[in-house]
Amino acid sequence: MKKITFLFVCLLLTHLTFAQRDFSKIEISALEVDSNFYMLQGSGGNILIYVGVEEILMIDCQFAPLSEKIRAKITELGGERPIKYLINTHYQGDHTGGNENFNKADIIAHQNVHKRLSEDQFIKAFQATVEAKPESFWPDIVYTNRMEIRFDSQLIVLLHHPNGHTDGDTQVAFVDRNIIHMGDTFFKDRFPYIDFSSGGTIDGYISSVENALFYLDQDTKIIPGHGDLANTKDLKNYLSMLKIMRDRVSTGIEEGLSIEELKNAGLDKGFESWGAGFINAESFIDTIWTDLTREN
Ligand SMILES: [Zn+2]
Repeated sequence: MKKITFLFVCLLLTHLTFAQRDFSKIEISALEVDSNFYMLQGSGGNILIYVGVEEILMIDCQFAPLSEKIRAKITELGGERPIKYLINTHYQGDHTGGNENFNKADIIAHQNVHKRLSEDQFIKAFQATVEAKPESFWPDIVYTNRMEIRFDSQLIVLLHHPNGHTDGDTQVAFVDRNIIHMGDTFFKDRFPYIDFSSGGTIDGYISSVENALFYLDQDTKIIPGHGDLANTKDLKNYLSMLKIMRDRVSTGIEEGLSIEELKNAGLDKGFESWGAGFINAESFIDTIWTDLTREN
């Protein structure tokens, strides 16, 4: 990993640990996506709750200090029903931080989530080790390529796309209800964070969005990993941005531009507002450049 800007390293560290964050002021909001489906937002990745007849299915759980507030909101929506399954869309702490507090549920994830939570992670970008999580955080059920669950007679498909945001991403599709949770393979109207220390790549990321669009239609309700509830048009805009930005950086590399020149070349023209979130244009250009020029 040759040239990561200081800013980007700080962002990466922040995303991985959120050590100093004050969660006391964070409120958990719930948006009804469809009957019995609710998108919860607080701090971290979007949560999806499906209130079944007798039990609840949950996707992602944000940070541990928010677990109590999240549980209170779930009780408001689903009464005393227990949480049967908690699906992790990937291993990062803004999606799995509460695993330990919700581990009465069966936690389901891609096998690489188990690997990354249960083993020390060496983060090349800043030559640092992130320690393994205790066993209480680990998934109980893992899969490799695809998994199907029947829940209240609904078909739920877990789809893995290799090397997108990380190497353990899951998109969760509620086939009968035309609802999908994309995890961090979708940051609505924002440049994405691609975690190449954890197996993410720009080309795999683009493929994971393309593949999702293949089976979604104009009525699909799409829960992004971060950002507001979305639809297929939003996801198509996102794909188009990804491809254009990737091509602009790739062309710049072919023309022999340095990373500093690329960052100053106005490559985000037309996408200026997409840099308002966690990843700004410079960071995203840096990500693509680092990925396309790295040796391994
Ligand atoms: Zn996230």
